Amino acid sequence: MTTYDTRESPDETTLFSYHDLDPPTLADVYEARRVVGRYLPRTPLVRSEYLSAELDADVYLKREDTLPTGAFKVRGGINLCATLDEEFTDPGLVAASTGNHGQSVAYAGRAFDIPVLVAVPGDPNPDKVAAMERFGAEVHPHGRDYDAAREWAEEQAREHGYRYVHSANEPKLVAGVGTAGLEVVEELPAVDTLICPVGGGSSAAGYCLTVGQTTDADVIGVQSENASAMYHAWAEGHLRPREDAETYAEGLQSRVPFALTTRLLRDHLAEMVLVGDDRIREAVEAMLREEHLLLEGAACASVAAALERREELAGQTVVLQISGKNLATSKLREVLCGDGD
Ligand SMILES: *Cc1c(COP(=O)(O)O)cnc(C)c1O
Repeated sequence: MTTYDTRESPDETTLFSYHDLDPPTLADVYEARRVVGRYLPRTPLVRSEYLSAELDADVYLKREDTLPTGAFKVRGGINLCATLDEEFTDPGLVAASTGNHGQSVAYAGRAFDIPVLVAVPGDPNPDKVAAMERFGAEVHPHGRDYDAAREWAEEQAREHGYRYVHSANEPKLVAGVGTAGLEVVEELPAVDTLICPVGGGSSAAGYCLTVGQTTDADVIGVQSENASAMYHAWAEGHLRPREDAETYAEGLQSRVPFALTTRLLRDHLAEMVLVGDDRIREAVEAMLREEHLLLEGAACASVAAALERREELAGQTVVLQISGKNLATSKLREVLCGDGD
């Protein structure tokens, strides 16, 4: 068995010698598309009559919830697994995830016949765990939150030689998820503003490389007020972790800002905004009621941010990244019965 050394990490998340912190480029996104396009369908870009009327703007939804795992991240998982060094195919991959990153790696691992172990927080979204297991991954609950699970995953990689798939410090993941941005540019080059939720920042970084660099559009990132590590890193120019990241939108949960994506966002993101968890929860409800779309909290952060910026967005062509649909059944029940909290 080969073991892999860890190296000094700029952002307090252990990096292994195979992790490359050089930001990917637009050319890398084009290269990723040749791979991703063979395994995944293009996702629809659909005008929202409800939000267009609410905002007095031309609002389109980039429907990443329609991908086979129900979230955009699978684009990155496919790109990483398709180009993985052969030495890693046994013993396979380990990842830490609140659910969607794990589903992405599990789905891609199954497609390329690579074993996958996923560490999840001790109190995970059970629907996301079931989905990861359905894709053939082994799931291990550990610790109080995403970051505790992440530390456990790093330890497994060190001890057993798994390839640790970081959720953000992976150029292949960022280039893979960036393929969504190429689709937006091709269909709607007149976009003025693209709004994207930010957890670890891979998705927003992908839109910066594509929509941000090839159109006149501003790319705006959104975090929850309760999980704002990347917001502070971006605004203040450091990589300091926060004490907490307890948010309704578990897809945005991270106490630690990540080096690779922070660098890309500081170079290219027009703005980063924070929205309250209550606004996110209301946006989940509104999208279900008005658009008949079942979306998870993280995806509705972009909707909530757009509704809070209606004055600036009026008259514009706006794209909202709809990042995923994996709302826990318990939260769906709250939405339907109106007994949130
Ligand atoms: C992971 C995730 C996000 C955040 O994406 P990052 O690339 O980590 O910033 C947003 N929405 C959903 C549904 C996610 O799964």
